[in-house]
Amino acid sequence: MAHSGLRQGAETGPRKRSAILGGVSSLIHTQVVVLGAGPAGLALANVLWQRGIGCVLLETETREFVEARPRAGFIEEWAVRALDGHGLAERLLREAQRHTAFELRFEGARHLVDYGELTGHHHYVFPQTELVKDLLRSYVDEAGGEARFGVRGVRLDGMASARPLVTYADPVTGERHRIECDFVAGCDGARGVSRAYALANGGVRSDHDYGVGWLALLAEAPPSAETVVFGIHERGFAAHMARTAEVTRYYLQCAPDDDVAGWTEARVWWELHARLGLPGAELTEGPLIEKRILGMHNYVLEPMSYGRLHLAGESAHLIAPIGAKGMNLALYDAFLLADAYGSYYYHGAAAALDGYSDVCLRRVWQYQEFSQWMSDVLHGPSAEPFPAGLAGARLRRLLGSRTAQTAFAELYIGKNAAY
Ligand SMILES: Cc1cc2nc3c(=O)[nH]c(=O)nc-3n(C[C@H](O)[C@H](O)[C@H](O)COP(=O)(O)OP(=O)(O)OC[C@H]3O[C@@H](n4cnc5c(N)ncnc54)[C@H](O)[C@@H]3O)c2cc1C
Repeated sequence: MAHSGLRQGAETGPRKRSAILGGVSSLIHTQVVVLGAGPAGLALANVLWQRGIGCVLLETETREFVEARPRAGFIEEWAVRALDGHGLAERLLREAQRHTAFELRFEGARHLVDYGELTGHHHYVFPQTELVKDLLRSYVDEAGGEARFGVRGVRLDGMASARPLVTYADPVTGERHRIECDFVAGCDGARGVSRAYALANGGVRSDHDYGVGWLALLAEAPPSAETVVFGIHERGFAAHMARTAEVTRYYLQCAPDDDVAGWTEARVWWELHARLGLPGAELTEGPLIEKRILGMHNYVLEPMSYGRLHLAGESAHLIAPIGAKGMNLALYDAFLLADAYGSYYYHGAAAALDGYSDVCLRRVWQYQEFSQWMSDVLHGPSAEPFPAGLAGARLRRLLGSRTAQTAFAELYIGKNAAY
């Protein structure tokens, strides 16, 4: 791979090459086009901009939309350390709760799993919306990074060549713009163009469907427990997760094709009490402010690199929120890719970019395996007698052995960064 010759202190930001070509489109040049303003794209764009590597961030939605899209909450400690290392975790470190334990409610009893004590590490709980807002503020408002929101008709060309081209249409005028670049970082999620490009160019996608749905709920109610609570019940799995002092996330296992309209507030709270409530551990109710059904399915797209296109986050791998791993994996990819671009531009070394896909995929498969294990245990008791028996055996082993709990805890916390 040719070295672009950029050095520390070199010109930063996209360089304007020429405007309005043939009266229909403008052409600019930058080092990296980042597609998608989710956690992966925003973490990457921040680090690139800090390192003086020019980039343009393209996002199909408006800024307001991406800042308000509620999703994750659990962030692993290594990911927060990585954010903090780039000055991106100031508010998170100030405001996020730290979680070190969860409770399993199973066969009418409460069991505390203190994974903080077992591993010396903890989770941070900080809504994805807040992290996205902070990453946008730091990249766009404070650093003056280049970003275009609401873009239409994004197209990728020449990814196998030395001069990839990204084109898109202005949302207001419809004018097509062209960006010539060295690399494209495809952080555009499960429905973006990067995934489609990879699939049309030899990418192999492996899918897994758990055959269950989760009714994802946000309740305007204070948390009813200090820890995450997993209710493992023959009526189906349920979970309680604190988000803020006023808002709590709940999940209820349901059929993947269930109709959300059938889940009235009364029915939701009845099921939550049945699956999670125990004497002395009642739930505090409140209005439901989000209610949607998520199919529990995963995919992995291999490899994660296609010439000058590198996928990061959900464009390459979807992981159902069973083990709270998706955003963590997205951040892992983003930091690794930022380092790989850094060593390409500052040291002329392409080895990290060449190895990027393999290194990411090792962690992706570890997290997929963990998610499968969690799914078997959490959903097993409501399934057929055989998987229910296996789930019970696994749970008793986990609860009865410190060694088993430690092995589990290291995966749950994402402790080993070098799988
Ligand atoms: C209910 C729920 C709870 C979750 N809880 C957790 C949790 O606790 N912990 C955890 O780690 N993970 C969790 N996750 C997963 C986590 O939210 C995702 O893994 C994470 O958002 C992935 O980040 P990303 O940047 O890869 O993709 P996204 O966040 O999906 O961002 C991709 C962006 O690309 C944009 N885009 C799409 N097409 C284009 C295009 N052609 N050009 C430019 N931009 C485009 C999209 O609009 C989007 O803004 C949860 C998910 C859900 C649904």
